[in-house]
Amino acid sequence: MKYVFSPFDPPAALVAGSEERFPVHRIYCVGRNYAAHAREMGLSDREPPFFFAKPADALVPVRDGDEYAFSYPGMTGNLHYECELVLAIGKGGANIAVDHAFDHVWGYAVGLDMTRRDLQAQLRDSGRPWEVSKGFDNSAPLGVIHPASQVGHFERGRIWLTVNGQPKQDADVADMVWSVPEIVAHLSSYFRLEPGDLVFTGTPEGVGPVTRGDVICAGADRLGELGVRIV
Ligand code: MN
Repeated sequence: MKYVFSPFDPPAALVAGSEERFPVHRIYCVGRNYAAHAREMGLSDREPPFFFAKPADALVPVRDGDEYAFSYPGMTGNLHYECELVLAIGKGGANIAVDHAFDHVWGYAVGLDMTRRDLQAQLRDSGRPWEVSKGFDNSAPLGVIHPASQVGHFERGRIWLTVNGQPKQDADVADMVWSVPEIVAHLSSYFRLEPGDLVFTGTPEGVGPVTRGDVICAGADRLGELGVRIV
């Protein structure tokens, strides 16, 4: 195969306790998967969650203990954090049954769905696509992926986020509207999942803005912490 220019390496996430990387194929995200977050966004908590996507190269792999220098993006005056449990898909499939969904999840990480909240509100209210509010460069910082073979699967577990040491988000993934198996089942009815897909499972309540100089720390039970400094 000859290409018109050298093909790029795939975006790749870090793996706990290993030098091997997890090659990233696509990044899917769940919207409004915690009722209390839907309410804080001024929306009904009765609408079912939904999906959107980010480009795979929005990924920023962040090592345990590191503090990634996140450049405040242009075209927004209201950059928000969203702390999320992230699924790393290791086995593909379409129309996956809820009962078999965990078989497709290779591992878990904590991630940040960084959001230009002002643009998202404008796009939402005008019925336009969300890409420029959600899928911008470096908008998906991700901690180290922990294999499910080591940490188990997630039916419950605390997830939290602090800004400058102040608690902002603190919830349990048991409160998700769609559980991990339900997310995999629903998503795989729209897209055939492939190894390397990541799924951001939605953020709990407590989202808010950050400005230059702020330090975000996001963590989850069994998954360690992810550090970001806004510059
Ligand atoms: Mn989100």
